[in-house]
Amino acid sequence: MKPVFEKPFTQQEPISNTVIERIGEILRSGRLHRYNTVEGEKAEATLLEQEYAEWQGAKYCLACTSGGYALQLAMRASGLQQGDTVLANAYTLAPVPGAIHAAGGKPIFVEIGDDWRINTDDLATKAESTGAKFLMLSHMRGHIADMETIEAICEKHDISMIEDCAHTMGATWNGKRSGNFGKVAAFSTQTYKHINSGEGGLLTTDDPFIAARAIVMSGSYMLYSNHGAAPDAKIFDQIKLVSPNMSGRMDNLRAALIRGQLGELDENIARWNKRYQALEKAVSGSPNIMTVKRPQQEHYVGSSFQFRPKLDPKQLPKLLENCSNRGVDIKWFGAEEPKAFTSRYDSWEYLGAQPTLPKTLEVLATTCDIRVPLTFDEGDCTLIGEIILDEVNALSA
Ligand SMILES: *Cc1c(COP(=O)(O)O)cnc(C)c1O
Repeated sequence: MKPVFEKPFTQQEPISNTVIERIGEILRSGRLHRYNTVEGEKAEATLLEQEYAEWQGAKYCLACTSGGYALQLAMRASGLQQGDTVLANAYTLAPVPGAIHAAGGKPIFVEIGDDWRINTDDLATKAESTGAKFLMLSHMRGHIADMETIEAICEKHDISMIEDCAHTMGATWNGKRSGNFGKVAAFSTQTYKHINSGEGGLLTTDDPFIAARAIVMSGSYMLYSNHGAAPDAKIFDQIKLVSPNMSGRMDNLRAALIRGQLGELDENIARWNKRYQALEKAVSGSPNIMTVKRPQQEHYVGSSFQFRPKLDPKQLPKLLENCSNRGVDIKWFGAEEPKAFTSRYDSWEYLGAQPTLPKTLEVLATTCDIRVPLTFDEGDCTLIGEIILDEVNALSA
């Protein structure tokens, strides 16, 4: 009998009792809205902003409804106007082009390489040819590109870099936290990311004007002094009447969920990486599977694992089926039709026709992805890797 994996890929760890107790207190108080405070009280959302700004090493932080919403605000608060071009890596998740579209931007996609990172040569070429003033850099699946090269390109062309850190909360490049390279960064605390509050987003920046605009746009009314990591009131005086309220605040319950997990993040990163490395070890060494050697500058968070079987893309549905029959749930970024969380840039038809990106299509044609939940242990990850290896080898034979 071939071994079968039996745990679900979508199961999360429980929320701790300390957090549940804190949430009980907030519920009993009835004060769920961040501006509903009693004399001298700091709302849970306010405390979260203080603590996250400190943890991230950013001057300012805004807590809001989702990662996608934080991306929209990041672009708008950076001055994006209707019709502006936004350079973006072609390998990302659907809420990213959606956020660019919602903010009024027009994405121009940049090729990726065999390592799933943005191709910096194509970025430099497109920065030159389009004159774009914005780059939406998605650290997709936690793969951080060469940040010094990207910073130099942005500097040369006066481009504002916005970092999508949905998969890199807690990761670093050359010792600097992901999110602290661009003008502004967005994080997600949706269930499948590094902190689980169901839904939720965080925006960080060192720019006082971006921070003030984002806070007012998030729906602060004139209550912005209640924020935990906000610029001086004088900055708000300059922008408050020209920044629309686009309601997307965070409530105190979710803020309590995030605060309660922030202290465990570093430990969880170490746990994720042990699992990731067990998987990597199980499949690496096979001539039939390509994985990526992580650059030494990168301290990643192994919350998902990518590989490319050396198979004809036409064989991928069969591979997925065979793995699924043995309990291993693989996502494939090369399917013609978007499925579940995966989609390809050419399926975002609302953006209009996009120029073909041959390298990106070639890489995604065999890109497989698996989620690494903390409810798996290292032995589980070894077994998953062995099943994948077995099934890839069977189809390669
Ligand atoms: C999840 C995700 C987002 C959006 O986050 P939400 O909180 O779900 O809106 C943005 N970018 C990437 C790469 C993501 O995976």
